[in-house]
Amino acid sequence: MSGIGKGVTTASIGKLFQFRDYTVDAIKIDPYLNVDPGTLNPIEHGEVFVTEEVWEFEPVKGMKFRISEIDQDFGTYERFLGKNIHPRNNITSGQVYLSVILKERAGEFLGKTVQIIPHITDEIKRRIRQVAEEEQPDILMVEVGGTVGDIEAMPYLEAIRQFRLEEPRWATALVHVTVVPRLKTVGEHKTKPTQHSVKLLQGMGLQPDVIVCRSDTFLSDNIKRKISLFCNVPPEAVISNPDLECVYELPLIFERQGLGDYLCKLLNLEPRKPYTEKWKKVVSRFKNARRKVRIALPGKYTAIHDSYISINEALSHAAAYLDAKVEISWLDSEKFEKDKKSMETLSEYDGILLTPGFGSRGVEGMILSAIYAMKNDVPFLGICFGAQLFFVAFCREYLGLEGANSTEVDPNTKFPVVDLLPEQKRITAKGGTMRLGGHEVIIEEGTRLYDAYKRRVVIERFRHRYHIIREFAKRGEEYGLVISAYDKTGRIINAIELEDAKWMVGVQFHPEFKSRPDAPSPIYLAFVKECLEYRSKR
Ligand code: GLN
Repeated sequence: MSGIGKGVTTASIGKLFQFRDYTVDAIKIDPYLNVDPGTLNPIEHGEVFVTEEVWEFEPVKGMKFRISEIDQDFGTYERFLGKNIHPRNNITSGQVYLSVILKERAGEFLGKTVQIIPHITDEIKRRIRQVAEEEQPDILMVEVGGTVGDIEAMPYLEAIRQFRLEEPRWATALVHVTVVPRLKTVGEHKTKPTQHSVKLLQGMGLQPDVIVCRSDTFLSDNIKRKISLFCNVPPEAVISNPDLECVYELPLIFERQGLGDYLCKLLNLEPRKPYTEKWKKVVSRFKNARRKVRIALPGKYTAIHDSYISINEALSHAAAYLDAKVEISWLDSEKFEKDKKSMETLSEYDGILLTPGFGSRGVEGMILSAIYAMKNDVPFLGICFGAQLFFVAFCREYLGLEGANSTEVDPNTKFPVVDLLPEQKRITAKGGTMRLGGHEVIIEEGTRLYDAYKRRVVIERFRHRYHIIREFAKRGEEYGLVISAYDKTGRIINAIELEDAKWMVGVQFHPEFKSRPDAPSPIYLAFVKECLEYRSKR
């Protein structure tokens, strides 16, 4: 089922191969009919991840869709595997069906009845093989989303069955991730859900080679033996995946249970000694950090916190690097709008981060939070929407432009200090039409941003329609605003900050997508460092 950490499991298995110096790539299959998750509500679906590359998905000649917005599991893959993954690796039902239907119209299947089997399943296998051919990894991980037994996931499981039949036995291994609940009343792990989902798989002609069991703690040998017996796998192929304080520890937990060697044997790979030292060091940094830092994220949250998973991770990577654990508080900014006094709670934090977002709910409270940071010298980082709202706050406070706003929030504002990018004014279609993917950011020397990156040109990832309007920013320069980065045409403001002692930075891009546990994002690192200093002075 969703939310049990198939993504972390997939990424961790990939890491086992990397420990052995094999190259790895990962595919994620999402059974929904959206072409990409860009139009999904992050509150329901979790974060939308943005890749460095933008893929021109061409279901038939002459029709193109730009894809860079993909499933949040790719963030997990990139963080664990330390590599950028191509957006074509996110296969959705939307893409698969669109391709098959448009190919039918183009006459590709003349004379044939077009059906789920074989046409949809063929398209699925083609997409998987396409990645294998183009990327040539030693191991290709394919995560099938959804739940065994769901109607939506059926064609994928059928495609996997065919795939395994078409390839030699040693070429594929099937890992099934199940949940093993513990009933409070009896206090023991129950294997029935696992038995049932394996039965369902077997009914579809799929026998798992390995069963990974999500549970609160490690499974006893007894329970492992039971799962082995009922699910037709050897006991050493039943693997515990317990709740962990630090998810990055999972590959090591798998390694300790012999999963790496076991998979290599299944896949007929020459046995190699795993090199885990470097990863162990990273994990111990997370687990043994001695300091603490508290950061407030005001916004319109009734959301699941997965909606900002890359931001959580980027903050924790930076904190771990600085020997600290980060405590993140999601504050409801709508409360600040209704009752200004409630903003006093912001005084409990060492830093304020304004998150990306869309629409107008909770926005006034976010602007008030930026103003609070200005007045109280609290370290502040604004990301994308957060940077735009920081600029709105600046225009109101420093330039006296009362009612200044983004036209996304208030289309009739007297001072549209944040407005649509010119090329966005013509666009009405919503899917894949924002300014997306990796772009060069040209950084001004002598700024806080330059202090963080120590480079003039970096590539960061974008996902936006609106931008900070240059004329207002230029006017702001006389009042202490610093434009610290532009895009390479000099047209789009990529970052702003304040000149005085306050550490307030806003970036139009999303540095969190490139942060890695062993290589934190430079600007997140600078921000958390500032928060720690502020904390020690308080
Ligand atoms: N809604 C804003 C825009 O489209 C910000 C988007 C974001 O935060 N990713 O520009």
